[in-house]
Amino acid sequence: MPDIAYVNGRFGPLAEAVVSIEDRGFQFGDGVYEVIRTYRGQPFAIDEHLSRFERSAQALQLSLGHTRAQWSSLIREGLRLSRFPETKIYLQITRGQAPRDHPFPSSLAPTTVLTFRELHPLEASIRKAGVQAITLDDIRWGRCDIKSVNLLANVLARQRAKEAGVFEAILLRDGVVTEGSVSNVMVVRNGTIQTAPEGPRILSGVTRAKVLELARKEGIPVDETVVRREDLLGASEVFLTGTTVEVLPVVRVDEQAIGPAVPGPITQLLSRRWETLVG
Ligand code: PLP
Repeated sequence: MPDIAYVNGRFGPLAEAVVSIEDRGFQFGDGVYEVIRTYRGQPFAIDEHLSRFERSAQALQLSLGHTRAQWSSLIREGLRLSRFPETKIYLQITRGQAPRDHPFPSSLAPTTVLTFRELHPLEASIRKAGVQAITLDDIRWGRCDIKSVNLLANVLARQRAKEAGVFEAILLRDGVVTEGSVSNVMVVRNGTIQTAPEGPRILSGVTRAKVLELARKEGIPVDETVVRREDLLGASEVFLTGTTVEVLPVVRVDEQAIGPAVPGPITQLLSRRWETLVG
């Protein structure tokens, strides 16, 4: 089965899907998106993702054009058509098609795109060994809580990580850890999980919220606080959370070992609890 796309009312092969070059998503990056994955073929945390999608759209005065029930049924229809063992679902809304001009016309029909691609989970050996990261200046705009299709700074950061031969770029604003280019970042210090608080500097990760809830259930203290670069490098454990990375140990940052440079006990425990949660 080929990858599937839905564009403005029609499902078809992704390779044949097109939008206009006058689409404001193409011209200005004027749009928002979500990524949902399946576990055992079922979309995971769909309500949480749709609610963040609504918040992102609202922040840009963008209409999602569909109710939650309609989004859910589009997702289910795409999954029925694509039938991959596991699927990565992208939902994308742009402000629509209009002659290029920065201000937007008030009554544009949004462009609605969903894509359905096979999800290839990260290799178990990588997950088991942990990954490496570099730190970089966070040069993004001031509303990183909006899941906007404007990902230029994230793209450049992940490219730098790739060129450095590591998995992720951990972003620092004035020396303070915000998040990764595609993930949220958590550190363990003195048995406490520390991570940047929700707010305009980070994306409020669906996985982040669920992992923090799992930690609290385990009686592990959680502190949503300022984490400086030196706290990151001096942590006993570092891990990433995200829809595709799940709970992923980081064992080296900027070539320096985190603790004994192996996945730590809290990361491993939360990884196991995550596996149970997702079935
Ligand atoms: N932060 C950024 C910049 C991301 O791109 C992502 C996921 O794509 C996350 C955090 C993690 O969010 P979630 O757990 O909702 O996938």
